[in-house]
Amino acid sequence: MAGVNAGGGRNHNFKVVLLGEGCVGKTSLVLRYVENKFNDKHITTLQASFLNKKLNIGGKRVSLSIWDTAGQERFHALGPIYYRDSNGAILVYDITDEDSFVKVKNWVKELRRMLGNDVSLCIAGNKTDLEKERHVPVADAEEYAASVNAQHFHTSAKLNKGIEEMFLDLSKSMIAKAGEDTLTRTGGKNRKSVMVVDDEEVQVPKSGGCC
Ligand code: GDP
Ligand code: MG
Repeated sequence: MAGVNAGGGRNHNFKVVLLGEGCVGKTSLVLRYVENKFNDKHITTLQASFLNKKLNIGGKRVSLSIWDTAGQERFHALGPIYYRDSNGAILVYDITDEDSFVKVKNWVKELRRMLGNDVSLCIAGNKTDLEKERHVPVADAEEYAASVNAQHFHTSAKLNKGIEEMFLDLSKSMIAKAGEDTLTRTGGKNRKSVMVVDDEEVQVPKSGGCC
């Protein structure tokens, strides 16, 4: 999944899946992030099964394949084939819908059971523009996320809030895991190459985020 580019920095290709109940805003988050679009209507299908986004984080080139469902979640028909091989998962709930938060907890259990700690998890409380109708208390959501080693983010696809930060933090977490992986496999010999930073086209600030 990783290679070395001409400047000596590492290239990463990561698969990220979005999971969560229907209508929580998964497709809206992806479209906002990749194409900076928002639609008030439910978007039934994306043109492709995944969208690509390229980032440069501290000189490391990161290419994200962001997989969105085609609505199968409505029929409880999303199986391991959808999320297998993913490096990261974004579990989305709607802050006005308590059931959608319960669904997130089920997804966390399934992902940890099937993929263990190899997968970086983010939980997104979406539709924060509807704060007045909130039914999932912030403290509960954040406490739960911390208890399962997931980052929690407050997002609004409508207002474009919290989305860039979320994907950036998730990417940093996936880079860190890729590094751990190399270290484990080589008994630490590759530590230097993991730390090499290529500064030629820095587009994303290194600070900010807490992964
Ligand atoms: P999905 O089924 O999880 O992919 O959900 P969609 O992205 O299709 O969104 C379902 C509905 O929620 C649509 O009507 C969206 O316009 C709306 N929606 C998505 N994100 C937000 C948000 O941040 N705020 C508000 N108010 N509505 C949103
Ligand atoms: Mg959708």
